[in-house]
Amino acid sequence: MQNNILVINCGSSSLKFSLMNPINGQVILSGLAECLLSPDAVITIKHHEEKEKSNLTSPFDHQVAINFLVSYLAKHQLKESVYAIGHRVVHGGEQYSQPTLINADVKQSIDQLSKLAPLHNPANLQGINAAEQAFSQIPQIAIFDTAFHQTMPEKAYIYGLPYKFYQDHGIRKYGFHGTSHYFVSKEAAKMINKPVEQCNFISAHLGNGCSVTAIKQGCSVDTSLGLTPLEGVMMGTRSGDVDPGVIFHLVEQLGYSLNEVNNILNKKSGLLGVSQLSNDCRTIEEAAEKGNKQATLALSIFSYRIAKSIASFSCNFQSLDGLIFTGGIGENSMLIRSLILSQLSLLNFNEDKTANEHMRFGKQGNISKNSSTPCWVIPTNEEWVIAEQTFQLLEQEH
Ligand code: ADP
Repeated sequence: MQNNILVINCGSSSLKFSLMNPINGQVILSGLAECLLSPDAVITIKHHEEKEKSNLTSPFDHQVAINFLVSYLAKHQLKESVYAIGHRVVHGGEQYSQPTLINADVKQSIDQLSKLAPLHNPANLQGINAAEQAFSQIPQIAIFDTAFHQTMPEKAYIYGLPYKFYQDHGIRKYGFHGTSHYFVSKEAAKMINKPVEQCNFISAHLGNGCSVTAIKQGCSVDTSLGLTPLEGVMMGTRSGDVDPGVIFHLVEQLGYSLNEVNNILNKKSGLLGVSQLSNDCRTIEEAAEKGNKQATLALSIFSYRIAKSIASFSCNFQSLDGLIFTGGIGENSMLIRSLILSQLSLLNFNEDKTANEHMRFGKQGNISKNSSTPCWVIPTNEEWVIAEQTFQLLEQEH
């Protein structure tokens, strides 16, 4: 197969990659470079069910990681099979609602959009630059995490702030996890044998980051994440919605600096902040089971806020085809799913306990009782969407 797509998801100190067949989603090789920019930098490559871990050499950066990957691909006669590279790019602002062939102008826009995603876009750009160096003849495509939400109506994305902040500075809700919400909505449509353009869903992507999206006739019409990935439901370490007055209180009354508040809201809050234990849902579930009160409280706030978000998005619909759970927690935690559904009986969601217990570790299906509105667990596959959209864009251009 000469039409494989190399999918790259670059973070500030990590680089995730997979080489995929874009037609059927088969993963030929995948891996992760971690602890980049430090002497601990390592790369793990999974190929033919075997994992190979290697130390990276100085300067331990994204370029070193990509060069290592290229040598590996060449050694295993896979380099020639790379047809194109698909990059996950977090923020596409209002300019990008479609997969986009990367050129100098696009890179400049991604750079300018770093204002809106200072932690993510610069890292994504580093991945693009490193891949360009290593694969100079191969097209590079950007798939934006915000793109799917560009169909939201103004009433959903304009904040109740002076309008000039939107006009002059682009301050509005953008939403993230778009690739995941798009993927699971297409999968859910297949399950009910209906064109996705005729389907109404609410999807909950629950991982370390969490978001809920209202999908009307196949398009995002509202989503819980905002200008940044801090808005909405409570997450692993992010607070989600708080009264903005809390920020002034922390700064003016308690003497925290803005940097400290930023760090608290993004890295010290959420499941971690409330449980005082961990941001990992499994650890908190185990502690709650043993009677830890903070853990129980964290799970109860987490699930209530998600249920509330789902219920609030129901105002977009006359009828709903179903609710979708995805992401590490959505795909695996029967407890969280059960807690959420138990608060949504007014929307006719009623958990089928046996199905809920069964639907874990990669299994896909309905966990709601027959007479109820369906609620599916659907494992997400953002890499496949990136590979597929990259391939489709290039095929259209030929
Ligand atoms: P990310 O947003 O970093 O991609 P994931 O989608 O991998 O994160 O989700 C990570 C979360 O999923 C963690 O909170 C983890 O505890 C949770 N998770 C994974 N497996 C289970 C499980 N079996 N039960 C409960 N939570 C789980």
